[in-house]
Amino acid sequence: MIPVTKTYLPDIKEYIKRVEEIWKSGWLTNQGHLEFELTESLSKYLNVKNIQLVSNGTLALQLAIKALNLTGEIITTPYSYIATANVIVWEGCVPRFVDIDERTFCIDPDLIEAAINENTSAILATHVYGYPCDVKKIDTIARNHNLKVIYDAAHCFGVTLDGKPIIEYGDISCLSFHATKLFHTAEGGGIVCRDPETSSKINLLKRFGHYGEDDYQEVGINAKLSELHAAMGLCMLPLIDQIIERRRKIIELYDEKLGSSIIQRPKLVPGLKYNYHYYPVLFSTHDQMMMVRTALIEKDIFPRRYFYPSLNTLPYLQHLGYQPCPVSESAASRVLCLPLYFDLDEDMINAITQIILNTLD
Ligand SMILES: *Cc1c(COP(=O)(O)O)cnc(C)c1O
Repeated sequence: MIPVTKTYLPDIKEYIKRVEEIWKSGWLTNQGHLEFELTESLSKYLNVKNIQLVSNGTLALQLAIKALNLTGEIITTPYSYIATANVIVWEGCVPRFVDIDERTFCIDPDLIEAAINENTSAILATHVYGYPCDVKKIDTIARNHNLKVIYDAAHCFGVTLDGKPIIEYGDISCLSFHATKLFHTAEGGGIVCRDPETSSKINLLKRFGHYGEDDYQEVGINAKLSELHAAMGLCMLPLIDQIIERRRKIIELYDEKLGSSIIQRPKLVPGLKYNYHYYPVLFSTHDQMMMVRTALIEKDIFPRRYFYPSLNTLPYLQHLGYQPCPVSESAASRVLCLPLYFDLDEDMINAITQIILNTLD
């Protein structure tokens, strides 16, 4: 069986060493040593100042919306994981979907202004597959209309644009450290803020709004990362460059073997240092994608329709009225992410690409 992804597990001996530290201290969560060490190490590796660790990427997005006091409508992308739209609704706001640019799969900045009205408070956009949004255009629009910007950067671990970390753009960027992500802590997430005040606020909100012993400052939630999760992150981080390099090689092989077939791939932006997180391919039609998918599944190979469905078509959001996003709906109906993980070998890549090319023939 070849799955779409596999969780990378570090050497268990390294993990046990960290767990022994936890046993020795008897400290499992709440501002522990390992959380502190991971925060420092990530801050250095990612080259960012204000980073808070939290228990998952979805809570990271919720805390971002809370910390910025967003209300009313939030402009967002229909082409993302459901968490992006769900958190907006969960936080009592209304998602206003703006279609994507098919070349990058990210929100189309030229369509944003037409969706802004007096109730709009922010833009929440996803850097899809780790390919960055048009951050400069989005920044300008946000400044002109006094809107906040949150990026769902779940796919962006280590991505830089012209040498600057992509997670430095916007007011807040949210990372996911889920087991299926490039860098993981089994479950976990990170919040990177432009200003230290927002970062401190999130540090308070993630621990019930409870600071010192009897110091209860405001309504918070529990979104802390435990020491056991931090331990996993500390074992993963030293391996991450190797993992990215291995994925780069796999993607090169895919590109080489699929060659100039009719499959469309995301357009690379100049100045981008990519992290090789996903290998999406866009077929010409839905039927063609389904034929390829069926042929792969018959051979025990499981690509993923990611992202599908287009979030503007989610059944539980239809009371808002249908918000058409034809480019996103079309892409979601034709896309497949192909298997991509550390020990996918050349024979497997050959098998996958042969099935695809034979089906397209
Ligand atoms: C994984 C993911 C999330 C959710 O992160 P969790 O850590 O699983 O809660 C949100 N948005 C995108 C784009 C993701 O890929």
